[in-house]
Amino acid sequence: VTWVLLAVLSMVLVVPGAALGASASGRPLLVTVDDLPIAVGSLHPEAADRERLTRGLLAALERHDVPAVGLVTWRNVHGPEDLELLEMWLAAGHELGNHSYGHLNYTATPAEEYIADVEAGRRELAAFLDGRGVGLRFFRFPMLREGDSEAKLEAMRAYLEASGQRNLPVTIDNQDWSYERPWVEARRAADEEAAARVAEAYHEALHVSVRHHEHQGDRLLGRAVPQILLLHANAVGAAQWDRLFSWLEKRGYRFAHVDEVLADPVFAEPHRFVGSRGFGLWDRLIHERWQAAARQEIEAVLRDQEQAWSRGDLEGFVGVYAEDAAFASPKGLTTGRGTLLERYRQAYPDRQAMGLLSLEILDYRPASGLEVSMLGDARPGQVHGASVVARWTLRALEGDEEEVDSGLTLLVFRRLGGAWRIVHDASM
Ligand SMILES: [Zn+2]
Repeated sequence: VTWVLLAVLSMVLVVPGAALGASASGRPLLVTVDDLPIAVGSLHPEAADRERLTRGLLAALERHDVPAVGLVTWRNVHGPEDLELLEMWLAAGHELGNHSYGHLNYTATPAEEYIADVEAGRRELAAFLDGRGVGLRFFRFPMLREGDSEAKLEAMRAYLEASGQRNLPVTIDNQDWSYERPWVEARRAADEEAAARVAEAYHEALHVSVRHHEHQGDRLLGRAVPQILLLHANAVGAAQWDRLFSWLEKRGYRFAHVDEVLADPVFAEPHRFVGSRGFGLWDRLIHERWQAAARQEIEAVLRDQEQAWSRGDLEGFVGVYAEDAAFASPKGLTTGRGTLLERYRQAYPDRQAMGLLSLEILDYRPASGLEVSMLGDARPGQVHGASVVARWTLRALEGDEEEVDSGLTLLVFRRLGGAWRIVHDASM
């Protein structure tokens, strides 16, 4: 009886569970749409055209059951007809977020001016949503540029926090917007061949971008991570999303709600890339990993130096210097690793004279620039150098280990031939 009961119970429990499992299978993908109501409005000045495009975008989303987040650039809202378009997005069940008022480039704009513009966009959208009982939760940086100085990065983060907006990242960054003008021109010229060519190029580019960022995210996290796709509210999208969404479904994606996707812990990982260009989240997180690894490696080099010195191994100690390293001290400039070793040998003839060394990092600044990704986009580069201000302390080998001498040193590290080498040392 018990077995039968359990079997019945498990059927009751398993059947709905299996149904849930089926609907929950597939990799979650959040679709986000920038520059609402219509991107590159100058190409679509007529209200009827804008409404037709919006209906096309919403129809594709509906056909594939996509719960999207649309990011509104308020300067794109030209009048009551455009408010109607935003109304249509809400009525279709999508969420709207802030994409600023004037779509300013943060790199070219002082923080105060930029924040005032983002706040102007927030105020307008919040007032619009408030009348409909909907909240405003998300902000998307125009061109994904989050700040080209520490101060600007911090200023926007503090503002977003204080105003209750969350930075909605992108993981599949792409150039979908660049196909809009050629698409519209081909269609207006009734050049079907040209339009078909643009459509093929659009899909090819998106496929490459999806594959690239999928690989990048999975390698970074060691698992199939959810993705956030960036699209724009434009005519090429209205015509091509249906086909794009079908391809994504075939690839194993499941269109997911923003709350489900953002619940993945990867979206809580801190990142603070400072730079002039904008990037997707995976590039930012990879950059964090590179930064952390470089810091660890350089700390390990300093530990090795402490140990080499403290066991009387001068050759080991200078081994980390570049062949042509320059060493500056109050006594003058020494160039070359060999010369440096000779100098140390004279100043510290034996282990007794050397004593025990400790190095404490007081200030650490990594150096990294931009690289070009396989898609031809700029991306954060590897850490190629670092400058370190450290306090060195020498203690007596025996006895009470009292401090014999102490001072400061400025070390400049470069990654040469796969290893960290000191190229400059200024000790005082
Ligand atoms: Zn934008």
